[in-house]
Amino acid sequence: MTRRPEESFKTTCSYCGVGCGMVVKKDRKGNITVEGDKDHPVNKGMLCSKGMNLHYAMQDRSDRLLYPEMRYSRSHPYQRVSWDQALERAAAVFKSITQTYGPDSVGFYVSGQCLTEEYYIANKLVKGFLGTNNIDTNSRLCMSSAVAGYAKTLGEDSVPVSYEDIELADCFLIAGANPAWCHPILFRRIEAHKQANPDVKLIVVDPRRTQTCAMADLHLQITPGTDIYLYNAIARVLIENGEVDYDFITKHTEDFEKYRDAVFLYTVEEAALNCDVSVNDIRLAASYIAASKGFLTLWAMGLNQSVIGVNKNIALISLNLITGHIGKPGSGPFSLTGQPNAMGGREVGGLATMLAAHRSYANPAHRKEVAEFWGVPSLSEKPGLTATQMIEALERGELKAIWIICTNPLVSLPDARRVEAALKKARFVVVQDISRKSDTLEFADLILPAAGHFEKEGTMTNSERRISYLNKVMDAPGEALPDVEILCRFANQMGFDGFKYISTGDIFEEHARLTKNTNLDISGLTYQHLKEEGTVQWPVPQRGHKGTPRLFSDHQFFTPSRKAKFHALDNPQNLSEPVTSDLPLILTTGRIRDQWHTMTKTGKVNKLRQHIDRPFIEIHPHDALLRNINDGDIVEVDNFRGSVRVSAKVTDDIKKGVVFLPMHWGKILQNDLARANNLTSNLVDPTSKEPDFKFAAVEVRKY
Ligand code: SF4
Repeated sequence: MTRRPEESFKTTCSYCGVGCGMVVKKDRKGNITVEGDKDHPVNKGMLCSKGMNLHYAMQDRSDRLLYPEMRYSRSHPYQRVSWDQALERAAAVFKSITQTYGPDSVGFYVSGQCLTEEYYIANKLVKGFLGTNNIDTNSRLCMSSAVAGYAKTLGEDSVPVSYEDIELADCFLIAGANPAWCHPILFRRIEAHKQANPDVKLIVVDPRRTQTCAMADLHLQITPGTDIYLYNAIARVLIENGEVDYDFITKHTEDFEKYRDAVFLYTVEEAALNCDVSVNDIRLAASYIAASKGFLTLWAMGLNQSVIGVNKNIALISLNLITGHIGKPGSGPFSLTGQPNAMGGREVGGLATMLAAHRSYANPAHRKEVAEFWGVPSLSEKPGLTATQMIEALERGELKAIWIICTNPLVSLPDARRVEAALKKARFVVVQDISRKSDTLEFADLILPAAGHFEKEGTMTNSERRISYLNKVMDAPGEALPDVEILCRFANQMGFDGFKYISTGDIFEEHARLTKNTNLDISGLTYQHLKEEGTVQWPVPQRGHKGTPRLFSDHQFFTPSRKAKFHALDNPQNLSEPVTSDLPLILTTGRIRDQWHTMTKTGKVNKLRQHIDRPFIEIHPHDALLRNINDGDIVEVDNFRGSVRVSAKVTDDIKKGVVFLPMHWGKILQNDLARANNLTSNLVDPTSKEPDFKFAAVEVRKY
């Protein structure tokens, strides 16, 4: 018997948007282990607990979907079928529904975990060939407010900075994020930089005292939803003290006066009262920013997942603009991405409201350009349904069929009971996933087994625009196929031209060609380049180009005037559902250190369950005392949408009047008793359509 040689492969972690490089080693028996890639510019050999244990999640195949299954009605049992039978049925149903009800009667809901090639093919299939813009992604739930915030201020969805700016900054403002737990390797870099340079200032804005606050110089523990008051008040102090960069403002921005007038509508004292922080702390934050040579603002879901998420983004980015801290070393706004490839998805236009390479579906010239490129007569000018709009359309019976890829909306979308009812109404639900533990399978008419991370090749883009090539390390189990192959086979079954690729590299090159002459031009990039040269940050407009670590160094922004744009945020008020005497507490949700999303991967790993092994709710001692709740008591949290039952963690780490639930646990893992989204609000930001996960009115009672 010939023994296989040991092998090693370079790839990227599949969890958060930090995008750490890892080396996967495969022994002679085919067992794999992972270690941090010492040569990788992001993590320089480090991995966090999730990354370090990724091989356990990928090697445990006990829950894997192994072959296609379908049922002819919800009362029939599933039966195993061949890929041909499965895709023939899918094509027959999609043809019948679209011919009867039109192309907008079907939709696709994909994921920030999809590789760029998968995203590209799904968008080409839906927008180019099915003739609808009804394709949205779970990135809608995390990054769409940042996308709109960048577009409104800088002209386009563009993260201007790099991780290398961390070591060049001397003031960090981290808002609505807990990177110590959720973006650990990036935070290790901030920690190491601050330890080596004690004068570096760290300001944290969060209603919770998280691990990120442990090394903060200033923690602004604001009331949820009051961010705009805070950032406007900091701006007011900077303007009053003459600590803004008027030269930059005059030459490179527009509408500063309107912004300044709005900022001056509220005094610092009024803002402090609204935010429930002290005036002195607001002035201290402003003084840290004023004294800095490099100022980075970093944020995540606390800003984005809000009914006023876009305006929160604009208010924070404006602090970089008034101080001229953008386009120079150690400075700029930096949204932290929750998923590994949310950025790659945006590059291919993977949202219902975008087209490839940040083009807009609403722009006729952009539609024409993309249609010609794909060889189709035209693209629909009708806006596609966003994630929560698809649920509403299913409820109304307008959306008849939905194809769900690599995401678990029954746990992750707000108001989960409503999602259940909507999926129950759907005529046809396709679930394409790797795990039998996805709660959404309960409603599937057709189950398609997909290959997982390490089991396919492709590319991803991390939070700093860094594109990496992912090697295939091992074969998928059973009959599972890479998502691109499933989608291309379906497209061929539908009779669409343009989906007969010889390799995944061809798909990447097609995507890269479509970016030519845009602001994210990667037309110079190929798999060969990525394999030989390693990761690279877009734009990469020519062969041999080394990539672009920092945008806007020339202060030429992506707006028509080439100037960054201020906005008058004259109504900083939160528009979330109000708390009432019956529902007096504000529920906010988030992640814990060692789990990721709906736990279909991290939940399998013993080592990761040891950190926190069960769901809980954080409640302030004052609120607990009022309700006779002691630490460890089982409590029921409820509102008019639903309830959960978990144990209480009584702690003054959470602000009085606010409670916190982790978002990971779903029905399969906890029998519906701990699904945070039983309670969350279905309000969304009017521009980004991102849900208001961070603010729901609830009551908590001892059970
Ligand atoms: Fe993976 Fe994020 Fe941890 Fe890096 S920080 S190892 S990308 S989970």
